[in-house]
Amino acid sequence: MEYRELGTTGLQVSRMCFGALTIGPLQRNLSVAEGGRLIRQALEAGINFIDTAELYRTYPYIKEALKGWSRPEQVVIATKSYAYTAEGMVQSLEKARREMDLDVIPIFMLHEQESEYTIKGHWPALEVLFEAKAKGIVRTIGISTHHVAGVLGACKYPEIEVVSPLINLTGIGIQGGTRDEMLAAIQQAYSMGKGIYAMKPLGGGHLISRRRDAFSFLLELPTVHSIAVGMKSTEELERNISFFEGTPLPDEDFVQPERKLHFDEWCIACGQCVQACPNKALHIESERVIVDTDKCVFCGYCGAACPEFAVKVI
Ligand code: SF4
Ligand code: SF4
Repeated sequence: MEYRELGTTGLQVSRMCFGALTIGPLQRNLSVAEGGRLIRQALEAGINFIDTAELYRTYPYIKEALKGWSRPEQVVIATKSYAYTAEGMVQSLEKARREMDLDVIPIFMLHEQESEYTIKGHWPALEVLFEAKAKGIVRTIGISTHHVAGVLGACKYPEIEVVSPLINLTGIGIQGGTRDEMLAAIQQAYSMGKGIYAMKPLGGGHLISRRRDAFSFLLELPTVHSIAVGMKSTEELERNISFFEGTPLPDEDFVQPERKLHFDEWCIACGQCVQACPNKALHIESERVIVDTDKCVFCGYCGAACPEFAVKVI
């Protein structure tokens, strides 16, 4: 596995980052033992970078994977929080440290920022991270974003050292601009020394049949240091690692089940999932939630927002 320095952060990360969303309760819902084992296999194969978030509820999987691991200081874990107040961020930070059993969080990010203005609006939370960084509890501060203006917003603040933007071959899921506009924003952030790790390389599953081209597109971008790939089985992990290490992907014999959103019959049409969707892929019609499948990237954020636990990615 090849490694790169993540911008000017001083962190060395593998080109493939293990995206932990997929194994957790919002998606495949593997047991902690199974999910922990899969992350451990990734670590054994040389992946030293794990992407998670408070929202994903995957901290226990990471704790499980790291139990007894001989080189924990070399594992770079990036997590994210929606906290915008100081109190909220103190709680998020402590939860991450406690539930992953980590003294130091290598990368702590504001989750899903839309622009320089939302970053500014999170300043009380960021100040908690600045203080945590000064104390050595957090090493690096960043943001994740689906928005072109989110990446450009990060460029306004030298304190934001890492950006995780949504970028993929066809641009599916990018908000507020085209794929090329996102690439230009990433170029700007990269040239300022920010660490860049891409999310949704396969557009949440839409590009699975074109994954060779989709991965190649990102691997050939000099502005992307690492690529977060969500995986839920050993087979997927091994094949993706082989491809990242230079072995061609045999598309034909690797059939990936199609993904979809499932709404249970007890949905009360409250609309909270509609509000939570960053891609505006949901609306309500005749008291039923309707999905625009061209816009959905199967992030599972709608499921996290549902008070009735009535929606999940399957
Ligand atoms: S949030 Fe849950 S209950 Fe409300 S509309 Fe969405 S799926 Fe239905
Ligand atoms: S509908 Fe749900 S899974 Fe699809 S993009 Fe929106 S929040 Fe993500």
